[in-house]
Amino acid sequence: MANNITFIGKGKPNPKHFGKTMPKYGQIKNTIGIISGKGGVGKSTVTGILASTLSKKGYKVGVLDADITGPSMPRFFGVNGKRAGIEPIDQENFKYDPVISEGNVKIMSMNLMMPKEDEPVIWRGPVVTSVLTQLFTDTKWGELDYLLIDMPPGTSDITLTVMQSFPIDELIVVSTPQDMVSMIVKKVVNMAKKMNVPIRGVIENMSYINCPGCDTKIRVFSKKSAEEHSVNLGVPLLGELPINVDLTEALEEGRAEEYVRDNDLYSLIFEALY
Ligand SMILES: [Zn+2]
Repeated sequence: MANNITFIGKGKPNPKHFGKTMPKYGQIKNTIGIISGKGGVGKSTVTGILASTLSKKGYKVGVLDADITGPSMPRFFGVNGKRAGIEPIDQENFKYDPVISEGNVKIMSMNLMMPKEDEPVIWRGPVVTSVLTQLFTDTKWGELDYLLIDMPPGTSDITLTVMQSFPIDELIVVSTPQDMVSMIVKKVVNMAKKMNVPIRGVIENMSYINCPGCDTKIRVFSKKSAEEHSVNLGVPLLGELPINVDLTEALEEGRAEEYVRDNDLYSLIFEALY
């Protein structure tokens, strides 16, 4: 059953995780949820960037793609043509093999289970929640320093359930410098605060473009600084990411992981965090 509480490994169980759903086939040191109140702000891209830079630093990293409406992690890591392994235990239970990227990130996504990646998910909320729970508990994660969860968008029931039942150590919020977006992102921040899930801070995405002539940061969306926006959200600012057409292109070509690993900007942004 998906809701077994099992503490695996030699370490002492984290008391904060008591009563939470735990993975059966692995030992995960830190679970980080990447969250945003709204689609289109680059939450999945930030998850991919963070996973790639942590793995580049030598950490053992896994990614659980819990963004059901747009599972995009396989595409970021260029593994969307592959399929996760399924190993039956008995008639009802399975073990899943994650797909491993070139940069050694273990990825599990609903899209890696579907016959075709453009197949829509038309399940109702409770089914989605139970499938997500299985992907978390029944995947052979092995030993991981970090499991990043690309969280479901918005403040839906699915987001609520994942926040409530998964052993999330901290959340990273992704936002963009627009008041309209901040307002919606603030809802998910407040939801996390109410549920006592610690928030590490906010990454402001699409903060600026670099002028190709002189490298000045041009703030396209807002005259306010990323700091001011983070004050409005009520969480610390962790970093700001530019609009980067080269990354978008790399993403479309399935080589985003390689692009991020080769680009020092991303390592620098996350250097101080982990
Ligand atoms: Zn210029």
